[in-house]
Amino acid sequence: MNELVEKLNKWAHEYYVLDNPSVPDSEYDKYYDELKKLEEESGVVLPNSPTRRVGGEPLKAFSRHEHIARLYSLDKAVSDEELDAFFNRIKKVVPNPEFTVEYKFDGLTMCLTYEGGNFVRATTRGNGTVGEDVTAQCLTIKTFPLAISYKGTVEVKGEAVIRLSVLDEYNRTAAEPLKNARNAAAGAIRNLDPAVTAKRRPDIYFYDINYIEDGAPATQEECFNWLKREGFKVFPFYRLCKSQDEVKAAIDEIEVERRNIDVLTDGAVIKLNSVAERGVLGFTDKFPRWAIAYKFEAEECVTTVKEVRWQVGRTGKLTPLAELEPVDLAGVTVRRATLNNYGDILRKDVKKGSKVLIRRSNEVIPEILGTVEHAAGSIDVQKPVVCPFCGSPLSETGANLFCPNRLCRPRVVAKLAHYASKDAMDIEGFSEKTAEQLHDEVGLVNASQLYSLTKEQLLSLEGFKDKKAQNLLNSIQKSRTVTLEKFVYALGIEGVGKVAAADLSKRFGDMASLRAATKEQLTELDNIGDITAEAIVSWFADTENTAELERLLVFISFKAKAVAAGGVFAGQFVVLTGTLPTYKRSQAQELIERNGGVCQSSVTAKTTLVLAGEEAGSKLDKAKKLGVKIIDEAEFKTMLGIE
Ligand SMILES: [Zn+2]
Repeated sequence: MNELVEKLNKWAHEYYVLDNPSVPDSEYDKYYDELKKLEEESGVVLPNSPTRRVGGEPLKAFSRHEHIARLYSLDKAVSDEELDAFFNRIKKVVPNPEFTVEYKFDGLTMCLTYEGGNFVRATTRGNGTVGEDVTAQCLTIKTFPLAISYKGTVEVKGEAVIRLSVLDEYNRTAAEPLKNARNAAAGAIRNLDPAVTAKRRPDIYFYDINYIEDGAPATQEECFNWLKREGFKVFPFYRLCKSQDEVKAAIDEIEVERRNIDVLTDGAVIKLNSVAERGVLGFTDKFPRWAIAYKFEAEECVTTVKEVRWQVGRTGKLTPLAELEPVDLAGVTVRRATLNNYGDILRKDVKKGSKVLIRRSNEVIPEILGTVEHAAGSIDVQKPVVCPFCGSPLSETGANLFCPNRLCRPRVVAKLAHYASKDAMDIEGFSEKTAEQLHDEVGLVNASQLYSLTKEQLLSLEGFKDKKAQNLLNSIQKSRTVTLEKFVYALGIEGVGKVAAADLSKRFGDMASLRAATKEQLTELDNIGDITAEAIVSWFADTENTAELERLLVFISFKAKAVAAGGVFAGQFVVLTGTLPTYKRSQAQELIERNGGVCQSSVTAKTTLVLAGEEAGSKLDKAKKLGVKIIDEAEFKTMLGIE
């Protein structure tokens, strides 16, 4: 059993942490089953047995556990002045300090304890002295070692995170999507049911030794190496800096790069490299004096909700939109913020007149994170019972309200605008305003009617002169020849975005096959979850939808996706994964397509090449399993003849 455990743990580490498996899955499974059988027969489970990596039954409550050494949090700097003050304090005691600069991940701080070489316990940071025992939850995570070579007692510190790609994948099919990666990580670990933890697939990046009996590393750099050597996952970026300027340059590097990595970060951590020098500086009652967290400008602020309005989207779904007291947020004036649905309003306790915390991320419209305080006379937001636009009684599906009226104006307008948009049919010169005009003046309700529009009808619209009318007619005609994926996306099926539309087109090849697809066939695709599969099936089961589809197909002809002939990637089906050192994903994709390759969103049997960067995840695993050729950016550049 010892031999089996050792073998299996070595392979799991190669697979999950190093991304470099040395045996096929079947081999692993064979030995795993053998071990499990021996455990059943003998009734003995070794402390480092991989069979422990299932979380067990839900807990009633978390038990509390005292850390061996206090887990300090870090003092924060938000400006260069504060950072300079930190350097000056240190230089008074240490004349030539050397620092490490690493990412500050925005998740849940964890402490893992090992005794006699075996993992014994995982706890949250808690108040620094006492945390919650989350061993069962932690055991569902595969990226930390159950056994280490160090035999003394040691506590290692890391941050539990949910990688952004994992969050994305989870939310694509989740009934209750998770709002952001920070809450998602905390919610996954601090969940009494380990099965929920497992489903959300958190990860832990380790960065510190909190306590070690003997043989403590002498520097932060050695600490990283110790962690890596013992099989812990360490984020592959840190900088060793010999001057203040080098530290600032490293912070700038992180501020730019954090937008390209798969983990949510909100700053950089600067630590004195030498542990002996740290000892000279010591601690305040709250923080170590030898480290600081530099936080990037928060794109969050507080403002007042003036009004909450309901919008109707192309599927009829009502979405609340809060009108705010205008506020400047990271250089942009924000006037509106989104909420998910009525339940979201209740959960966040948003009222007219409430002061709310808003956050701007990459989305165009910021979101409301929660209510800070209610003003006297704040008014509850009412749950609408009829559509605010057409007065139809609303229907309720799950957490969402829907206007069932297909002719409801905002619904029709949003649908037409989506159909004509760039990633869909790409009808140049057709804006949301055009959709409104055509609906109001010409009575257009279906996309298929676009193809019988006359010049006279267009000329009757405000702002349309001869040239503009002719141009729009021309682009409508031009749009009739389109790729299948753009057309599928244009249909506006709930949950079918660009990526899913592309996947569906690749898998089914033509409209008739897609229409005939069963839920089971649909969920086989990587980017289609249960809910989307159901939405697709019921969309095609709806006679009004299919009647409109038939009408559209009279006008539409499909073309194959353009492939440049003769490029270095001709005939290649390429999947991009992870973060490339210099190229953005979109740039790499463009280079591949311009040179004859086809980019896929996920690894399939057709895939011929995978371009992998750092932090590549499940796609890389799958590629390795299928024996697909894998290249890095350097090889990619060589193929393209770029030095
Ligand atoms: Zn309506």
